[in-house]
Amino acid sequence: MRRSIRSSSALLAAVGLEAQAAVESAFPVLAPWPLVRLIRKENPNDPILRQLLATDLEREEVDGFLADPLAEANATPAPGLIHKYHGRALLITTGACALHCRYCFRREFPYSAHAAGQLHAALEYLRQKKDIHEIILSGGDPLSLSDDRFASLIETLDNIPQLRTIRIHSRFPIAIPQRVNTALLRTLRSSKKTVMTVIHANHPQEIGPDQQTALRALTQCGPLLNQAVLLRGVNDRLEALEDLSHILFQQGVLPYYLHQLDKVRGAAHFSVSDSQAIQLHDQLRDRVPGYLLPKLVREQPGAQAKSALRA
Ligand SMILES: *Cc1c(COP(=O)(O)O)cnc(C)c1O
Ligand code: SF4
Repeated sequence: MRRSIRSSSALLAAVGLEAQAAVESAFPVLAPWPLVRLIRKENPNDPILRQLLATDLEREEVDGFLADPLAEANATPAPGLIHKYHGRALLITTGACALHCRYCFRREFPYSAHAAGQLHAALEYLRQKKDIHEIILSGGDPLSLSDDRFASLIETLDNIPQLRTIRIHSRFPIAIPQRVNTALLRTLRSSKKTVMTVIHANHPQEIGPDQQTALRALTQCGPLLNQAVLLRGVNDRLEALEDLSHILFQQGVLPYYLHQLDKVRGAAHFSVSDSQAIQLHDQLRDRVPGYLLPKLVREQPGAQAKSALRA
């Protein structure tokens, strides 16, 4: 993480593009080398580069694209805990990510207000709520925590009897696959709960050799799923989605969700219309076995689950 690229100009230089007109942003560029190495040189339209490089398109104000598109500020019973859905809750373990995805719906999330590391109240809420059976470790990215802090969090959760499943939402296996080290694998395997990991990859090019190694190792620790975001100029083509499903499956990962973009300010240029999303998803259904078809969903503020655009 310390070695990651932290400016648009350095990222452009790293991929052999003209760095003079680089745009910097208050949501700074954060581009880890294991992913940067997979960018094809001198190609401004590279699907990985598009996810990492800040551009002036982010400054456009577009109606309906808001700072807190999911109104999550209303669903936090304790700092760091988001409890919107029945039976499961999401714990923000840290604000740090392995990379900054330019379309991130949390790009304006007030992490400091959720003082990472101050999870006492959240854990107390989980102990008292007997009907929460699954805890989703999210962020930020929970694998930003050190091996020791992550292990101690898992141990704390292991001791909450009503929890059955610990789900980890992480982009590390793609962004910095070396994070999937022996200590992490040992922690995941030693948990008393059912552990599952949901990774986040949007384009088949993100699954390089190191990513493949990390994913194969993670398959030893429980179910492994992927969620992707449908992004204009990145993966809004049938072949990209089809290849993504296949290459993930070869590493033991099943597709879970294909998300319609959350309408966060600064990300409008990534958005794909619902009619095009549905058309792509219908085409994908005709090309892959049912188990390689992700559910096309959108998150709606106040809804009890992700809403399906297509059954
Ligand atoms: C997406 C999400 C979940 C998990 O939803 P699943 O459909 O179980 O994957 C849980 N809590 C919050 C706040 C979410 O945004
Ligand atoms: S990994 Fe997830 S939370 Fe972190 S910047 Fe990317 S989309 Fe946002």
